[in-house]
Amino acid sequence: NPLNLKDPDLLRMQGLVAGKWCDADSGKTLEVTNPATGEVIGTAPLMCADETRRAIEAAKAAMPGWAGKTAKERANILRKWHDLMLENTDDLAKIMTVEMGKPLAEAKGEVAYAASFIEWFAEEGKRIYGDTIPEHQNDKRIVVIKQPIGVTVAITPWNFPIAMITRKAAPALAAGCPMVIKPAELTPYSAFAMAVLAERAGIPAGILGIVTGDAQAIGKEMTSNPIVAKLTFTGSTAVGKLLMEQCAGTVKKTSMELGGNAPFIVFDDANIDEAVEAAIASKYRNAGQTCVCANRLYVQDNIQDAFVAKLIERVKDIKVGNGLEDGVMQGPLITEAAVEKVEDHIKDALGKGAALAVGGHRHSLGQTFFEPTILTGVTQEMKVAKEETFGPMAPIFTFTDEADVIAMANDTEFGLAAYLCARDIGRIWRVSEALEYGIVGINTGIISTEVAPFGGVKQSGIGREGSKYGIDDYLEIKYMCIGGI
Ligand code: ADP
Repeated sequence: NPLNLKDPDLLRMQGLVAGKWCDADSGKTLEVTNPATGEVIGTAPLMCADETRRAIEAAKAAMPGWAGKTAKERANILRKWHDLMLENTDDLAKIMTVEMGKPLAEAKGEVAYAASFIEWFAEEGKRIYGDTIPEHQNDKRIVVIKQPIGVTVAITPWNFPIAMITRKAAPALAAGCPMVIKPAELTPYSAFAMAVLAERAGIPAGILGIVTGDAQAIGKEMTSNPIVAKLTFTGSTAVGKLLMEQCAGTVKKTSMELGGNAPFIVFDDANIDEAVEAAIASKYRNAGQTCVCANRLYVQDNIQDAFVAKLIERVKDIKVGNGLEDGVMQGPLITEAAVEKVEDHIKDALGKGAALAVGGHRHSLGQTFFEPTILTGVTQEMKVAKEETFGPMAPIFTFTDEADVIAMANDTEFGLAAYLCARDIGRIWRVSEALEYGIVGINTGIISTEVAPFGGVKQSGIGREGSKYGIDDYLEIKYMCIGGI
């Protein structure tokens, strides 16, 4: 029981293929490391196409039994999965913190957030209503029904190791679809633990599969296997584009939650304290490693000094450390490459005239810990204006005019989340409507909830997760034209 879990059985080191826990066919494994300490926690199977194909075939075989249940029967099982997650919050959170680094309090928050999708979609599954359409000819009637799309596959990232699974698996399963999941190779244990709980909840063998290992080989099988009707992906824009291309061969439906480059705009009528809190929550949560984290802070010139002074005070208070320790607010970054990207953005900005207000360096704790950072004097020519930093660094841009800041905010191929702080209701409407983003947070830095549609426009993605819309991605519409009436 290396992690000292209340239930050591939750730490599995095997994949779940066709209802069986198993190693890779080759026997090969990959190591899983704790980013806070650099220690190897254990291994995960290095699976390839064959295991993936078997999981997909088993999903197909299991689907009739699952889709044939009533929505209520499925909801009761999903509800059990939800309850088991909450009962095991401490263990799930610990597994997550150890494999990806986020502070334990954030990990516990993620467990609750992740479970909320299961509760939500278990209920939504009962409300998959069809339509009747007034006929176009007297002897005909038109009826529309919605059916589960079929076998689904998911590829998920490491930054929300559990929530990115439930946000996809819950609507799929509620709709009657099985799902084979490839979690990020950095965070397999969270996924395995979720599958243990799914089995205990009574989700039948084959309905949920977990394969870990060679991302390219698994991805190729998932995107080319004709059994698979739908791929849902959360991750980088580059990989998302590749998967869309690969899915074209068999015309699969895809949902894509890709990169962001969120602007966070503070207008001079904003409540500054509220704006600072929103900026902290949006920017530094998960050490800046979320796709909706503020990436660019635009502050109106006449309040910039006041805003920055308060932000600096708050950022200085962020306690960095191993996420398992009490009071830690920021853990390590996920990998060395992640640290190098933050360093690169800072170096580029400093070289082009920006200044460091706080932080800016690797943390004295070593590993991949990084100081919470603020840069001032940032301009549109710097890398950070164009690319997602994905780290704890807030670059401050200045603006004077509403139209200018809207143009700068939209000057990116991304369109996931945007934020604005203001009190003038006309301005709030005007700017919110003009921002080319799928989500706009107004006077808040926290926008994620199971009840609202999460998703991006432009190159940030396709489709919405959560909310009453989220289940549509797992359904097909069938229209029946009944003649001879
Ligand atoms: P990040 O930068 O967040 O790691 P990635 O897009 O690289 O984003 O990773 C997100 C998920 O996509 C992970 O599960 C990763 O293993 C997977 N992935 C990466 N490359 C491929 C690929 N070529 N085919 C399928 N999955 C991939």
